[in-house]
Amino acid sequence: MIGCSCPVCQSKDPANQRLRSSIHIQSGEKSLIVDTTTDFRLQCLRAGIDRVDAVIYTHEHADHILGVDELRPLCLRQDSRIPLYGSARVLENIRRIFPYAVHQPPPYKGLPQVDLHEITGTFRIGHIGITPFELPHGPRFKSHGFIFNEGRGPCLGYFTDCKAVPENARRSLKGIKILILDALRKNDHLTHLTLSEALEIVREIQPGHAYFTHMNHEMDHATVSAELPRGVQLAHDGLVIDTQQAKPRDS
Ligand SMILES: [Zn+2]
Ligand SMILES: [Zn+2]
Ligand SMILES: [Zn+2]
Repeated sequence: MIGCSCPVCQSKDPANQRLRSSIHIQSGEKSLIVDTTTDFRLQCLRAGIDRVDAVIYTHEHADHILGVDELRPLCLRQDSRIPLYGSARVLENIRRIFPYAVHQPPPYKGLPQVDLHEITGTFRIGHIGITPFELPHGPRFKSHGFIFNEGRGPCLGYFTDCKAVPENARRSLKGIKILILDALRKNDHLTHLTLSEALEIVREIQPGHAYFTHMNHEMDHATVSAELPRGVQLAHDGLVIDTQQAKPRDS
């Protein structure tokens, strides 16, 4: 956190040096991003990402959408517009903040160029099936969680920025190989799951492996990691998860 001198913000442990929450999914030839964060440029450079086939948005909070402009070099490299998928509200905000990226035809070459697709139900990007779930992210705000299916059944659930995981999503997530879940901090919070709320959901869903994300600076990686049960860990920047290797917990 800017200006903070707490032990986590000052920590030399790379697992405590956190940029904004997002993931990159590589499946066969397909390269997908979930959320273009305020740190998207740095995250792409750091992870060596040189191609993005589509971006999927969880919600329109600034830390999740403001990196749209950084799609610019990828549009140029790929010589194509990049499709963005989000709720009507996400798309409305992208249209308002980045009108030049949405404009058809582009005002000039060299701008980010995106096509907007509203999420209304399960959709596909190539061979990847993506099922959205509406999540409460505070009393009056909704985000989307997603279950990804590479063709051999659901393999990954990505549920960040939520205060709860509704029953229909829990049912679909039951026994999934990999679950990535919001766990902001230990103390109660209006819009995010706490560590104990996240652990409760993991106990019910019984994923093969659970990773917590979107932690704030009250969560020291080593300290909290030592308190977690088997099969549950805090994610960290740069973490790579191989869904092919991952197994359901019971097998
Ligand atoms: Zn701090
Ligand atoms: Zn967020
Ligand atoms: Zn949010």
